[in-house]
Amino acid sequence: MFLTITTTGTPERPATELGFLLHKHPEKAQAFSTSYGTAHVLYPEADAERCTAALLLEVDAVALVRRGKGKGRGGAPDAALAQYVNDRPYAASSLLAVALSGVFSSAMKGVCNARPELPAVPRPLRIAVPALPARGGPGLVRRLFEPLGWTVTAEPVPLDTEFPQWGDSRYVRLELESADRTLVEALRHLYVLLPVLDDAKHYWVSSDEVDKLLRAGEGWLPGHPEQKLITSRYLSRRWSLTRQATERLELVRLAEADDSEVEEIDNAVEAETETEERPTPLAVQRREAITAALKASGAARVLDLGCGQGQLVQALLKDPAFTEIVGLDVSMRALTIASRRLKLDRMGERQAARVKLLQGSLAYTDHRLKGYDAAVLSEVIEHLDLPRLPALEYAVFGAARPRTVLVTTPNVEYNVRWESLPAGHVRHGDHRFEWTRAEFRAWAEAVAERHGYEAEFIPVGPDDPEVGPPTQMAVFTQTTPKEAKAA
Ligand code: SAH
Repeated sequence: MFLTITTTGTPERPATELGFLLHKHPEKAQAFSTSYGTAHVLYPEADAERCTAALLLEVDAVALVRRGKGKGRGGAPDAALAQYVNDRPYAASSLLAVALSGVFSSAMKGVCNARPELPAVPRPLRIAVPALPARGGPGLVRRLFEPLGWTVTAEPVPLDTEFPQWGDSRYVRLELESADRTLVEALRHLYVLLPVLDDAKHYWVSSDEVDKLLRAGEGWLPGHPEQKLITSRYLSRRWSLTRQATERLELVRLAEADDSEVEEIDNAVEAETETEERPTPLAVQRREAITAALKASGAARVLDLGCGQGQLVQALLKDPAFTEIVGLDVSMRALTIASRRLKLDRMGERQAARVKLLQGSLAYTDHRLKGYDAAVLSEVIEHLDLPRLPALEYAVFGAARPRTVLVTTPNVEYNVRWESLPAGHVRHGDHRFEWTRAEFRAWAEAVAERHGYEAEFIPVGPDDPEVGPPTQMAVFTQTTPKEAKAA
């Protein structure tokens, strides 16, 4: 069983940083004994430009049988010979996943004592597994890895190259590539998905498997389109464990929903205080600015991504220029409140046909978001951890590709003007970052450049001569359609 991890480097980020990340020195070949055989780690190449680490697992088939772990799917005893003559020594499988987590345990936890900042840095990665048992075939391999931002090559391996008429084996040659994944993410994806594809666990599934699954799946398994299949296969179809995991994943989602309950301070100001003397609340000014920009773009079919409790969807519904409005949010709880606000269940048929609420995560490519005129991300990007932002960028600008995209986010420079905000604080407990005007501009211009858009910047709220406006908005307009626009 064999797996390689390759990265490329730049003068600032030499490829040999991979050695630090894996806690394995590139100049040494090392061997570790595991309960199934010996795991070797070596580097076929290691210089500043390219570095490849290989994990080779030499499985001791006899030891496997003695441990009673070499049995076939479902634990049924195989014919005597099959215990010794089977694919275990050659095919990447659950054993390889176990070896990965054993040999690279610090790397999987994202710990790097020598260079603490390294694990969070996304970098180009290529992972190759020459023989991967894949129940479900190349199609399933793609459905599992593509939503996680990998470019997937999965080629069926013929049963016998000399006798092509025998057809393909159940193995694929797998290659995963990404320009900006962290090694932690890559190892966690493999740790869970290799056994899912193999679909035959070779050790007893105990209840702490649920913990292992949830730990390794943190940040990507909740919301994965194949979450159900992954959970049930990983836990070898043990229903009680599967249910336990499903319930706990649901709790993760609820916790996220609770976060979004805490309203932003500017939204709080808005609450019940629309009196004559007070200036228009910022949240209202934001919706007005968004609506005006949407109308200027000529959009009729609009996505509100991270729609929260549905205030913008409600405002857009009042304007017949918008023929279809889709609100999407990761939080079920926010969507329930949105649905109540819109009175979806009491809406007339024609009105109901214009609006849809979807649950989904912007960290995943979602085919339901293709073919719209415009997408709005109002006060959403700052709720994602910075390393997840490229995934959102790809999902919106790379995959969904509406003609117009509006992004609003707080301008951190303005925070000194909020009387109620202690110095140095962000506006909302769930904000992972707040940007200056220059930082937002740099991000937006890079995104526009990468995906064939043009970015224009519009202040929202009073534009302070010193610190700028409280909300900054970027209007992206597509300049080079990569795909034919949906009619
Ligand atoms: N757009 C609304 C809500 C902003 S609050 C407004 O302008 O008032 C941010 C919203 O983004 C929350 O509802 C939160 O649940 C949602 N969100 C955060 N991360 C998300 C993700 N990865 N995918 C989809 N929605 C997300």
